[in-house]
Amino acid sequence: MNFRFTDIILPLAIRGRFTYLIPDEFAGALKPGIRVLVQFGNKKLYSGIVCNLHNEGTGIKKIRPVKAVIGTAPVVNELQLRHWKWISEYYMCSEGEVMKAAMPGGLFLKGEAGSPVVEKYRPKEEIFIELASGFTDEQLNDILDNLAKAPKQYEILSAYIRISGYESGSEIKPVRKSLLLKESASSPAAIRALSEKSILKSVSLTVGRLQDTDGFNEPLRVLSAQQLIAFNSICNSFKGKDVTLLHGVTSSGKTEIYIHLIEEQLRKGKQVLYLLPEIALTSQIVLRLKKHFGSVTGVYHSRFNDQERVEIWNKVSDENPQSSYRLILGVRSSLFLPFSNLGLVIVDEEHDGSYKQHDPAPRYHARDSAIMLASYHGAKTLLGSASPSIESYNNVVQGKYGLVELKERYGLINLPFIILANTREAYRKKLMVSHFTPELLQAMDEALGRSEQVILFQNRRGFSPYIECSECGWIPVCIQCAVNLTYHKGINKLVCHYCGFTRELPARCESCNSPGMITRGFGTEKIEDEVKLVFPAARVARMDQDTTRGKYAAGRIIKALEEGRIDILIGTQMISKGLDFENLTVVGVLNADNLLNYPDFRAHERSYQLLEQVSGRAGRRQKQGKVIIQTSDPANKIIRMVLRHDYPGMFRMQAEERKTFNYPPFCRMIRISLKHKDKASLNKYSDYLGNDLKSKFGKRILGPEFPLISQVQSWYIKTILCKIEKEKPAAKARQMILESIQRLERTKGTSSLKIAIDVDPY
Ligand code: ADP
Ligand code: ZN
Ligand code: ZN
Repeated sequence: MNFRFTDIILPLAIRGRFTYLIPDEFAGALKPGIRVLVQFGNKKLYSGIVCNLHNEGTGIKKIRPVKAVIGTAPVVNELQLRHWKWISEYYMCSEGEVMKAAMPGGLFLKGEAGSPVVEKYRPKEEIFIELASGFTDEQLNDILDNLAKAPKQYEILSAYIRISGYESGSEIKPVRKSLLLKESASSPAAIRALSEKSILKSVSLTVGRLQDTDGFNEPLRVLSAQQLIAFNSICNSFKGKDVTLLHGVTSSGKTEIYIHLIEEQLRKGKQVLYLLPEIALTSQIVLRLKKHFGSVTGVYHSRFNDQERVEIWNKVSDENPQSSYRLILGVRSSLFLPFSNLGLVIVDEEHDGSYKQHDPAPRYHARDSAIMLASYHGAKTLLGSASPSIESYNNVVQGKYGLVELKERYGLINLPFIILANTREAYRKKLMVSHFTPELLQAMDEALGRSEQVILFQNRRGFSPYIECSECGWIPVCIQCAVNLTYHKGINKLVCHYCGFTRELPARCESCNSPGMITRGFGTEKIEDEVKLVFPAARVARMDQDTTRGKYAAGRIIKALEEGRIDILIGTQMISKGLDFENLTVVGVLNADNLLNYPDFRAHERSYQLLEQVSGRAGRRQKQGKVIIQTSDPANKIIRMVLRHDYPGMFRMQAEERKTFNYPPFCRMIRISLKHKDKASLNKYSDYLGNDLKSKFGKRILGPEFPLISQVQSWYIKTILCKIEKEKPAAKARQMILESIQRLERTKGTSSLKIAIDVDPY
């Protein structure tokens, strides 16, 4: 039966699917998941994804036809379409926004009506050289003899024979031209001469852009007795529960257990998705995985370019078990890859905040979306952490998730010994050297003396968080955002961490004209400077957003640390997670106070997790590590709990607090942000929306209020917070909120108002 209409997802922020007419020429060619080109608006052409075909009219008189069908096979499968729909409903965005986040840009086409469209993705071609015909060994010997007077050509031909391993009757293998030139130390002219004599010829072949991933298929390591118990408990838990939390102290060998679980799934022919919060972590773990699983292992993160992403996408949907990726290691967006047969999803460091996408929509949480994805595949999800999120642990307490615990480090090494260093006292007694307490200096000194490595953690990048006039207290702020500019010494500029705006350092105060501008506070860059002064002989490196911009930058730093080419590594939270170094024995936390004092309901939970994680980098292989936490408040409850590695205590305290003050996981939270360049209009519209919502939800609505950062890039911001009881049907609440927003959007003059909805904004 021929269908007349198709519903299409277009990469737009407009809610809903779009109906188009199927012209006769495309009857039969359309199916769910295939790409089509359609016109939307006056001129623009978009590539959309076909969702379904039907014969129901839409009531709209003039339905436009599909302009073109791209490719012959679907690029998105039906499980993905279902998952996109769930994300768009749960996170209150359009399916088009999910599509944009999900698919590599290289799969999109865009154009103007009337002009031809071309695929953005181009397979990469490279020139190869091969024998012009299947010469016998004798013929080849004659040819080589005749080349005696042309040594360059002789070198090329013999290099070709050597590299390709050619002999009489064997297959003619192409060899990369670049390799041939390098190996023979010869010139392109020599190759040309040989082609003219019909001895060699060049061919252009398609090559992959992805790095070769040949593995060694090393056997798996034998699990310790503790690990084996945990492994079996996980398998048992999966019999009754779809999600299980593996709560294992740092370095208890969780990764090793994942590897055993992965092996089991791959053996069954299933796919596995292994999520990590941070690109920086992928390089170390991918090596551990490739050792065992070789070329079925693929990596996915945002540093790959569009063309590479298309190739990864294709290798996941590839059905050939020889050439496809069946194990994907990646950051949050890898859950959008075209999996067709998942058996297991692992969410490592499940508590980590970078699983949540804040901007742009879809503002999804990768852990929660991955659990949903797994359920569509009938797969299981394993969450792993040394310091689980309050919401996941609460799901365990409620009986929704299974729990498996590992309480000891692998090899029975003790958890690191934690020392609190009181900065207030050290300042008072004038014992501080730059930003280092005597305790930290001594521990570093001892470690370096034993040729061991140190990491220093400071959760702020740049040199100093702001500069200030010593006379009048004037602070340079971003011209577009209401935030202080951070001083970056390397580029000698002030930088806005919200919008990227940069400016020169003012030589004089722009308020009182005094020349006394001084730096305040400290970031990783300043610590790096100070460390170099205090330990001039040490090899120092820094790992933060500024030093890891390239695709392999983070991997290079980690490799250097692994190979012992770095003595002291300074970094932001990037270095706190998952990394495993043999010779790293001392961890210093330069300032725990700014973690604890962050104004957010999760600040204490996050501080505990971060301190526990970063401590966990110390002393993982042979001996107990040492951690020095610098704080002006050593009596702080959270710090005391870190000292005792008392996760249950932290959980009880936080759960109690959240219950009392009605915070997640004991309520649902939806945050609406309104942005406008005109403050008065912003106030007017947000009051309108706030009142409308209050008339429906009463006291569940908080605000509108200016948030901590109330202006970014010359947009003023106000937020409204909805706190909805867990017991109330969430879909209905979302619907009511949407209706209010749409009512506001329909009122006149709101076209320059931006509204963003964030579900679970934490
Ligand atoms: P986690 O993921 O819990 O932090 P890892 O899996 O990284 O812990 O293990 C910590 C260290 O112990 C790693 O260096 C790892 O290679 C080693 N290790 C863990 N389990 C085993 C095992 N069964 N056999 C040999 N080494 C192991
Ligand atoms: Zn700014
Ligand atoms: Zn001044």
